[in-house]
Amino acid sequence: MTEHITTVAGVAVDTRHWIGGRRVPSAETFTDLSPIDGSSLGEISRGGGEEAAAAVAAAKAAFPGWAATPRTERARLLRAIADGVEKRLQDLAIVETHDNGALLRSHRRGVMPRVAHNFRFFADWSLRLGHEDFETRGHTNHVSWDPAGPSVLITPWNAPLMLATWKVAPALAAGNTVVLKPAEWSPLTASLLADIAAEAGLPAGVLNVVQGLGAEIGDALTSNPDVRRISFTGSVPTARRIAASAAAGLTPLSLELGGKSPLLVFADADLDLAADLAVEQYDNAGQVCLAATRILVEETAAEEFTRRFTEKASALRQGDPRDETTDIGPNVHSRQVEKIDGFVRRALAAGARAVIGGGPDTDLGGLYYRPTLLTGVGQDSEIVQEEVFGPVLTLQTFSSEDEAIALANDTRFGLAATVATGDPERARRVTARLVAGTVWVNCFFVRDLRAPFGGSRLSGVGREGGDWSFDFYCDMKNTVTAPGSGQPHG
Ligand code: NAD
Repeated sequence: MTEHITTVAGVAVDTRHWIGGRRVPSAETFTDLSPIDGSSLGEISRGGGEEAAAAVAAAKAAFPGWAATPRTERARLLRAIADGVEKRLQDLAIVETHDNGALLRSHRRGVMPRVAHNFRFFADWSLRLGHEDFETRGHTNHVSWDPAGPSVLITPWNAPLMLATWKVAPALAAGNTVVLKPAEWSPLTASLLADIAAEAGLPAGVLNVVQGLGAEIGDALTSNPDVRRISFTGSVPTARRIAASAAAGLTPLSLELGGKSPLLVFADADLDLAADLAVEQYDNAGQVCLAATRILVEETAAEEFTRRFTEKASALRQGDPRDETTDIGPNVHSRQVEKIDGFVRRALAAGARAVIGGGPDTDLGGLYYRPTLLTGVGQDSEIVQEEVFGPVLTLQTFSSEDEAIALANDTRFGLAATVATGDPERARRVTARLVAGTVWVNCFFVRDLRAPFGGSRLSGVGREGGDWSFDFYCDMKNTVTAPGSGQPHG
């Protein structure tokens, strides 16, 4: 490793912050570990108050110029970033896999193409933003979407670049400048994104990337009075801290948080499809906010469903995420594995039974938690109520539609829900009563970026996607013009 550059699977990654169009080191570093084998990927600049202040100052200085840049030019630059992502797709995929342990084939085929799509989609969408004027006694009410200002975007490790660009792209398209703070367990692709954006010609200071431990750098970012928007994806406890920190400036927040989503399987469902949907919840080693981790099955179908599920889940191959044939890779960090195992141990001690799994695969090393299904769990138990964020599912049964809905809605979360049924009337009745930001019927994870995304209850505040992203990242303005005073634009 030359100073400040680390090489991951042949790809050079700068370990410094990216502030005001320059690489900036910190005196302190933190070690970034690979979940594949626990090896070090590099020493990453460890920012604190000083770096946070410098990044926000750079975003503030760049804001007037970027806000005044015509939307068409901003969109052109975003498309150039998308091209750059595509050009470096293989690099981004392999670095992300080394950094967070998710499957290389998913990164190549699904995740990184989606990163490029995030930029193109929001570039295009920004050009069609508009609203019909309202007329009041001859006065024109003209609605415009004005850029809000410097925006702090804080992201988690489970889908690092995908979740970061889901925020970066609309914020930039809206005319805001950005300070991105990636998670300390997977900071590398954010640094590559800074390179790609600079190469695409994005002006200095429009996108800044600062690295560091959330507890050390977070507050300095979220309490800064020059920050006009904070968008956060992560856990509920961190969201509470950010909300408290943002309170002084009443800085608007978008919060995309955890979940404990249900999969409701009715006896009239295609049980093979239902079992496939359930097995899909082990994707990314269960580290997916939307995962339907609570399987609720109609009593009369429970035995057959469990048989099919177990057969399919047992066929999953766990191992090195770089291997094409692997279905489940490692969990992100030894601390995450300890957390997952703690949940499972306490559930087993409280009387749960592991139908499959129940601990880490010691042959593969401690970071690979075996796909687990627990039965014999009570609705009030910790394992049913709290987010595990690992490959751990629970199975409960119900005997009526009302009971299914009551169980499904009975947690503090409301991110997503999935319903498997062969009866369209039942699908309509049940989905209408579920509390969730996204509900799927006989499918999972498919989503149009034009649709709103977010959670109810503790799963989040606000929605992003399509118009909803621009509602958040913009200050809406109504310009009322008296008759004969010309036409407002914008
Ligand atoms: P986390 O809350 O621990 O960390 C998320 C980010 O917040 C990291 O970048 C971290 O450094 C930063 N952070 C930590 N403390 C901070 C502070 N005091 N101030 C500012 N920033 C701080 O979450 P995680 O463990 O990285 O991610 C897992 C969680 O994210 C799960 O709960 C999961 O459900 C959730 N998630 C939600 C969505 C969604 O869209 N709803 C998507 C993915 C993950």
